[in-house]
Amino acid sequence: MNNQVNKSLENSKLIDPYNRQITYLRLSVTDRCDLRCTYCMPEKMTFLNKKEVLTFEEMHKLCRGFIHLGIKKIRITGGEPLVRKGIMDFFEMLNPNLSQQLEELTLTTNGTQLYKYAGQLYATGVRRINISLDTLNPKKFEHITRIGKLHDVLNGIEAAKDANLKIKINCVALKDINDDEVDNFINWCIKNNFDLTFIETMPMGDIGNEIRLNNFLSLDEVKKNISSKFELEDITFSSGGPAKYCKIKGSSIKLGFITPLSHNFCSSCNRIRVDATGVLHQCLGQSNSLDFRRILRDPGATDADLLENIRKAIKQKPEMHSFAYDFSKERVQGKVNRHMSLTGG
Ligand code: SAM
Ligand code: SF4
Repeated sequence: MNNQVNKSLENSKLIDPYNRQITYLRLSVTDRCDLRCTYCMPEKMTFLNKKEVLTFEEMHKLCRGFIHLGIKKIRITGGEPLVRKGIMDFFEMLNPNLSQQLEELTLTTNGTQLYKYAGQLYATGVRRINISLDTLNPKKFEHITRIGKLHDVLNGIEAAKDANLKIKINCVALKDINDDEVDNFINWCIKNNFDLTFIETMPMGDIGNEIRLNNFLSLDEVKKNISSKFELEDITFSSGGPAKYCKIKGSSIKLGFITPLSHNFCSSCNRIRVDATGVLHQCLGQSNSLDFRRILRDPGATDADLLENIRKAIKQKPEMHSFAYDFSKERVQGKVNRHMSLTGG
């Protein structure tokens, strides 16, 4: 940012209209993916044209603006971030920002490409990653992802362990698909010392039919089931995000529950999302947005304009999402038209 930027702007924090301080940016670097998870996208997905997607230079400029205004943590997501060509160059571009200002650079990945990149990720300053994995059964994995091979992800996980990356597993709870695996999954995470977060399916984007409704599993049910087999202790730990955490007695792992549908978590929201086209989404579950690509590609726009628009976007953050499933009418309410793969999870 250049020196002409107003000093009072420089020092002030990003506070939304509900007095939440925004310190966390989730940036989607691509909408493309090497898997086709059934709850995330249709089998024949239409992806963006290259021109529509921000270049890494544009993304970096935007990130610098956010860091300047108090963003402390950036999570790179997608689509599958590790399928974007040159992705390690982008992590290298962000690395010098990892300082007192930016405290953490991290990644959410499906793990299929980790075997190639785990070491480089560590070298660019990444220390913790989230890996999405919904089953340990190879046949079910192929069913859920339509085209994936479980062993690719397991190899990636081994590579990440070898590279000293701290791993958290994200698992979407799916009725009649992985609900019989919960104990096994937890034991596997305990054995490997991976934190584990369960997520409820959210109605985002058209997936060809609403199978998410049939597979929706309330995490209240999952937690009740876990409590009958493991001794759980609620803990006050918070990532500032939506997950509520507990510990399993006798283990060192944290168990998280992300329950957008069964319990609203918005009051502690500290995050905003920018999709691969440079559109900022103030809330995962609402349609408010601000287009930064237009600003980044406007030759007349200054650094001050960029910062001013970031502030403006934060001032428009809604109070909460409006996701809901209406089971009595077998209908989805509060559906958001964009896919999770565009905005990032
Ligand atoms: N491809 C990477 C991955 O799978 O980790 C990053 C992007 S993916 C969109 C991020 C997370 O969103 C994953 O954990 C995935 O399971 C989750 N996800 C995708 N669609 C979802 C939906 N409709 N409801 C809930 N979670 C979803
Ligand atoms: Fe790809 Fe992640 Fe969506 Fe699965 S959840 S299709 S891995 S973007």
